Amino acid sequence: MSTVTLKDITNLCKRRGFIFQSSEIYGGIGSVWDYGPLGIELKKSVKDMWWKSMVYDRDDVEGLDAAILMNPETWRASGHIGSFADMMVDCLKCKKRFRIDSFKGKKCPECGGDITDPKGFNLMFKTRFGAVEGEAQEVYLRPETAQGIFVNFENILNTSRRKLPFGVAQIGKAFRNEITTGNFTFRSREFEQMELEFFVKPDEDEKWYEYWLGERMKWYASLGIRKENLRLREHAEEELAHYAKKCHDIEFLFPMGWSELEGIANRKDYDLSQHAKISGKDLRFFDVAENKRYTPYVIEPSGGVDRAVLAFLVDAYRAETVKERKRVYLSLDKRLAPIKVAVLPLLKNRPEIVEMAHRIRDDIRGNYRVVYDDTAAIGRLYRRQDEIGTPYCVTVDVDSLNDEKVTVRDRDTMEQTRVAAAGLKKFFEEKLGE
Ligand code: ATP
Repeated sequence: MSTVTLKDITNLCKRRGFIFQSSEIYGGIGSVWDYGPLGIELKKSVKDMWWKSMVYDRDDVEGLDAAILMNPETWRASGHIGSFADMMVDCLKCKKRFRIDSFKGKKCPECGGDITDPKGFNLMFKTRFGAVEGEAQEVYLRPETAQGIFVNFENILNTSRRKLPFGVAQIGKAFRNEITTGNFTFRSREFEQMELEFFVKPDEDEKWYEYWLGERMKWYASLGIRKENLRLREHAEEELAHYAKKCHDIEFLFPMGWSELEGIANRKDYDLSQHAKISGKDLRFFDVAENKRYTPYVIEPSGGVDRAVLAFLVDAYRAETVKERKRVYLSLDKRLAPIKVAVLPLLKNRPEIVEMAHRIRDDIRGNYRVVYDDTAAIGRLYRRQDEIGTPYCVTVDVDSLNDEKVTVRDRDTMEQTRVAAAGLKKFFEEKLGE
């Protein structure tokens, strides 16, 4: 079990500007979160790394950014209207509501009171589309990004002239009116997904399914998640969605226990067939080599951006005692760290030192976030940067004025190296590009 608590992470996020409660000055709104100055950098890097591995590093995937609002027929076809529901029970005594799958037995798990019969709650947010009250149509905020890909299958196929196998990647917001929330951003009502729909020949589905299980596990590990905190869990027969042939969850050891980070499913030809049926469009692929038309199968690795961000924070959190003082640092992969370099003057009352530090900051910034900070003594400045995971601090001291060299301190080892100020840009390009 990981020793860091969710409270450690929540506190750090709030205190240092990673994540705030949405509309906090009004008391917030349940399970909706805002990413602050550091959170946005971390989240953006997670998405960039996903996009790089899914789109830029491959030649068989296209990108898409579909709208959040969709024709409601989409949700009839996908099965979300009707079945996208959690079965819930209410306690007649303490009035709390529970997901039926969250406990066994016929009594309230909290107070032992009697419970109601299970009722289904649709998780989709509804809103009204069109300005004229009486004529407005009911539409939904999408509960997953995947359907935007399926309804665009033909557009993408025709414009990209792809052959099977090929995939479509998308990152975007999704909304679910979750009933049981909590655990910080783990289960939010507004969140982001990173989804790939990989279309394959029906008889090649198993091979590609195995391939994506491996690729996705590798992706998390390549960005620093420790092996012992990651595992694959296969869905049992009774757990499988009705359309899925197979499904695995990539689970991470969060402070509350092993929980889903990403789902990888073999959705067969379910979605395209459903959309073809409801829309009346032929969404089959014409295989020139075999001279026949068929509906591709799809392998879907579907991850949550917010859950990935949370996992990276939890996994990177380190607390140690150095010279009898507690040191907390985030051992984030350099590519994910919100700030890559902090430039710190040893003495802020020496204008030449301050001027040199500003010059260095201006010189090395441009491609990543570099900050200048002189609001505390050096020891405290280091601790602040450690706590937010900044891989390198550059300190300008009195000697720097004579030898044009500065001290570069490494976050993880705390090792200090003297480097020529003129060579810093190249030095960091190499270090950060490793
Ligand atoms: P869970 O069982 O935890 O509700 P799920 O199986 O319904 O998740 P999927 O529909 O497979 O989730 O969605 C794919 C991914 O989207 C999940 O693995 C998760 O990372 C993310 N996700 C889903 N619901 C939420 C949520 N409410 N808050 C944050 N991320 C979510």
